[in-house]
Amino acid sequence: MTKKEKTTLEKTIQTNITALKDQILTLEEKTKPIAPDCSLGRLTRLEAMGEQDVANKVLDEARVRLTRLNNALQGIDKPMFGICIECEEEIGFGRMSIRPESVRCVACTGNR
Ligand SMILES: [Zn+2]
Repeated sequence: MTKKEKTTLEKTIQTNITALKDQILTLEEKTKPIAPDCSLGRLTRLEAMGEQDVANKVLDEARVRLTRLNNALQGIDKPMFGICIECEEEIGFGRMSIRPESVRCVACTGNR
């Protein structure tokens, strides 16, 4: 990977991190415990709890991705950046621009 490509990826990672942090804040609002509220009907309450389940899952995934992106940002200057941890081939700039937190190439991700 060239220096220019790394600079581009660094910006992509930073943009992704900012967006993800926003998303996490919104999700944290949504996943706050629902206060027992008698004004809500039983169905509405069940529905709200179902939505919370979904939001919790998305929140977990967002947090994992944020950690990976931070790791990618810290490791961007290391020689192993952009190299697949399984086969040690280059992951490729195309894939890294879409998912800069990738640590495996397309082939190795498919094999898992
Ligand atoms: Zn690989």
